[in-house]
Amino acid sequence: MGIPFLARLTALQPVRRAGRVVKTTWKRLFFGPLHAHRKARFSALGTTLTADLPVAALQLDSGCGCKACRNFVPLTQAEFRSYARPGRKRRQAPAFAETAAIIELSEFAGFEPWRIGVSQRTSGKYHRAANKARRLGYSARVIGKDSYARSVYRLTGSKLRRSKGLFVWAAIAGPRADLVDTKAPPLSPGCPRHWRVCWGGFSTTETSETLAAFAILIRAGDTVWVQRLIGHGAALSDGVTKLLIFDIMQWLLDRTDPNTHGIARLVHGSVEEGGAGLYDWKRYLGFRPMLLEFNRTAD
Ligand SMILES: [Zn+2]
Repeated sequence: MGIPFLARLTALQPVRRAGRVVKTTWKRLFFGPLHAHRKARFSALGTTLTADLPVAALQLDSGCGCKACRNFVPLTQAEFRSYARPGRKRRQAPAFAETAAIIELSEFAGFEPWRIGVSQRTSGKYHRAANKARRLGYSARVIGKDSYARSVYRLTGSKLRRSKGLFVWAAIAGPRADLVDTKAPPLSPGCPRHWRVCWGGFSTTETSETLAAFAILIRAGDTVWVQRLIGHGAALSDGVTKLLIFDIMQWLLDRTDPNTHGIARLVHGSVEEGGAGLYDWKRYLGFRPMLLEFNRTAD
């Protein structure tokens, strides 16, 4: 009994080995480039895939029971669903694993220490670009939700491809006459801890004002995330997106507006997404890979 059984097993060995080789080769071919891509990004940030990354403990629901909680808490949870958590094996699913890119705002006493860090990482390039935009007449401010719908659509379509690599539908479809710029002033959020705030970067001359960059930030509890940040293709070299992010960071880190009180961090997508340009942008601004942990409301 025992000998034929062993013989059968031995006979199967080459088949098993071949199976393993096929499986490993397939995995290497399919996941290899993705794995190398993530490895390179992590190493540029001075860390490795297997390193113990710092953990951000998110408190999305501040227990305020406001109407906005019901919108922004689930929206934020859905947005962060695929991001790495403590204890999950990030190496095993390199195709689908993403790691949140975060600036821990609580590490900065104000805007200036953050700005100095950016200047050190970019040899002053980003600061100079923002200043250049200011000299050219650009400025940024909070705008009303949907108040520049026509302009936002126009600037979305101003570039055929964006940093995430896909073609932009608005660039193919052309302008839309049904959208209007109401220029309605921004409303103050109903709850200081759950809101959506839109920012516009404008190019201003003596006679006109044109939207040249646009951003949407969402806050849920102690976390703010960038839902959208986009610049007009023709204004990018003027430094308008740098000016916009600098002004947003100043607003977040000055902490004079009550809506910015108690924010612990800013999340800007993941380390893995997008092309090299988007990745460098995050790296220079100080976004770092972190694991996410969701805390329940403290009662
Ligand atoms: Zn609330």
